[in-house]
Amino acid sequence: MTRIADLLAAGPTYSFEFAPPRSPEAEERLQKTLIELEPLQPSFVSVTYGAAGTTRDTTRRIVENIAHDTSMTPMPHLTCVAQTRSDVVDIVTGYRDAGLHNILALGGDPPLDDTIYPTDFHYARELIEVVKEVGDFSIGVAAFPEGHPRSPDRETDRHYLAEKLRAADFGITQFFFRVEDYFRMVDELADIGVDTPVLPGIMAFVNVDGLRRMSAMNGTTIPDELQRRLDEAAGEPRRVRELAVEVCTPLIGELLDGGAPGVHLYTLNFSRAAKEIWANLGLGPE
Ligand code: FAD
Repeated sequence: MTRIADLLAAGPTYSFEFAPPRSPEAEERLQKTLIELEPLQPSFVSVTYGAAGTTRDTTRRIVENIAHDTSMTPMPHLTCVAQTRSDVVDIVTGYRDAGLHNILALGGDPPLDDTIYPTDFHYARELIEVVKEVGDFSIGVAAFPEGHPRSPDRETDRHYLAEKLRAADFGITQFFFRVEDYFRMVDELADIGVDTPVLPGIMAFVNVDGLRRMSAMNGTTIPDELQRRLDEAAGEPRRVRELAVEVCTPLIGELLDGGAPGVHLYTLNFSRAAKEIWANLGLGPE
């Protein structure tokens, strides 16, 4: 199985992100999306993980499915907050024994319900150490071009991000819409001596309310012009998808032209926008 660090060392990577399905209909859509995107030969694909382990088994099942039944290289996401060390060791050991070589090591958000979750972790940095103890994984981490919402200021955010990136092989960003936010983060990291590749994460949004909710949660700025166009398209899925393609195509083009080490597209388990963006940019197989 391919290591993402090796892929990045060889040139730009083009990857997709999927989420574990939560219903039979969602499962069917994901399977269809996987079939439709496989011919684009993504460098790798990643599968998210529900905070506090809520999709533990589904994430693993989907990842192993992709590994066995497709030609794509899967990378599971794994969060550590609200989980015990032994749970996390079990999961990582399972991935190692299944022959996987890549993991996205995340802090995750503290659960919002009233349940008291036992936890041995506070930050993603601690998870990186556990993953390294269990196996020889290529390890990715999350980065936030506009700063993580819980960071008190930009400098502190960059300090902890730099610490994480020094211990990892690559980063993937939260989604954003302003190219300058990404390159500013890269410059700020370079100023403190970090040049670990950070892949820009770009969202092929499908739903206006969902996009606004996620942007508010993650501290992503939606530029005024895009806000206006989202208002116009809201409630019409076809127009929303067309707008996503129209926004993502030049955004990714500028990032790649500016030297980004590739792009990671949040597909939301839909294939059509991803295919159109890839076609517009001439990505995928010759
Ligand atoms: P951390 O690196 O732990 O950082 C969290 C906060 O703590 C930051 O403000 C950081 O500056 C601060 N911090 C770090 N170390 C220290 C320290 N030693 N002392 C004080 N402060 C510190 N969530 C999911 O639930 N499942 C997913 O699959 C998932 N996938 C994601 C994929 C990507 C590419 C991204 C960008 C995010 C993803 N998330 C996912 C969301 C992520 O888990 C949350 O945003 C979470 O709040 C932060 O995760 P992190 O890994 O950046 O955490």
